[in-house]
Amino acid sequence: MSEISNTGGFSFEISKQLEGAQGRAGKISTPHGEIQTPAFIPVGTKATVKSVLPGAMADLGSQALLANAYHLYLQPGPDVLEEAGGLASFMNWQGPTFTDSGGFQVLSLGVGFKKVLAMDAKTFRSDQVIAGSKQRLAHVDDDGVTFKSHLDGSMHRFSSEISMQIQHKIGADIIFAFDECTTLHNTRPYQELAMERTYEWALRCLDEHKRLTDLRADKPYQALFGVIQGAQYEDLRKKAAHDLGTMSSSGIEFDGFGIGGALDKDSLGTIVGWVTSTLPENKPRHLLGIGAPEDLFTSVENGIDTFDCVLASRIARTSAVYTMEGRFNVSNAPYTRDFNPIDDECDCYTCTYYTRAYLCHLFRSKEMVAATLATIHNERFIVRLVDQMRQAIIDGNFKEMKEDFLGRYKHKSGQSRD
Ligand SMILES: [Zn+2]
Repeated sequence: MSEISNTGGFSFEISKQLEGAQGRAGKISTPHGEIQTPAFIPVGTKATVKSVLPGAMADLGSQALLANAYHLYLQPGPDVLEEAGGLASFMNWQGPTFTDSGGFQVLSLGVGFKKVLAMDAKTFRSDQVIAGSKQRLAHVDDDGVTFKSHLDGSMHRFSSEISMQIQHKIGADIIFAFDECTTLHNTRPYQELAMERTYEWALRCLDEHKRLTDLRADKPYQALFGVIQGAQYEDLRKKAAHDLGTMSSSGIEFDGFGIGGALDKDSLGTIVGWVTSTLPENKPRHLLGIGAPEDLFTSVENGIDTFDCVLASRIARTSAVYTMEGRFNVSNAPYTRDFNPIDDECDCYTCTYYTRAYLCHLFRSKEMVAATLATIHNERFIVRLVDQMRQAIIDGNFKEMKEDFLGRYKHKSGQSRD
């Protein structure tokens, strides 16, 4: 059982390849447990999935959780997480954890491009979206990002080294390199500049990660994923995938890869395909911030192994729930006397014990448990859907399963990171 390697406890194996496509089923092993892939990783931004207990997340089949380094850095601070024995121990989560590097949040909260990234590349394109304004809360330079806390206005700075130091203290099993996330509104020259920075920052992340891994040899191994940017440009995406896919520094390489940045919904599959066909096949790929059912199919087919997205829980808090036929708002008038479960094909706690009428009442009377019950259902719906995709890849009927689902499911929705 003893694995003598500096990637102790972390590995990825592919068990089945989708015929004629990039998709695959496999298994990621981490010091805190395994993730059967493809898998949906629910988001607990501040070390909790909003309104749901970790035990309930485990019960609904969540294999891992993703938290955010930016939010945890500001509150309660990485030292508190380290003292608690790391993120999983702090939140009493018995399984693998991820942290997002904070690059996206520094820019989205600081600079003010919307939380839901533009999915339409045809509208105006301008660097003003992330630069130039006096009111901006973040400033990017070649070394890092200086930003104002969205909590109290205090000034902070993130760089590759700082992001690695924070993520090591937080102690998630899978961490991400610090990157500059752009929007579809940025100009091509700005995208090129951001990609060059992300390249340099990736090298520095590898060096700092190696230094911290050696320094903290008593801690469980943390796998570092490089983040592929390049917006909607084929040459930029492929160059980034090639450069980071073959990158080595301080004698180490990335353990896996994240695909980041704004993605135009219509070209999601094409862009993901450019990246996955260029990246090394034997390392896991994580798609950041994608979670709408139809997008999950496209991404799995194109070789994505894990996803995270706040969409399922965010919409649940506004009473929007998923069903096999599409999305609806359970607080609407027609459900006042609807004594059916949200989705009669769902096996979640909420659908087993509660009716649409009960949820409708809870939302209308602003009871907190409304969010809990709706979130449990939505997270279960998405986790199970991706589990079913994995099984379909293994059974060799992914195409049929996809057509069957999309033939019934009617609702298109966007991309969402927190
Ligand atoms: Zn349910």
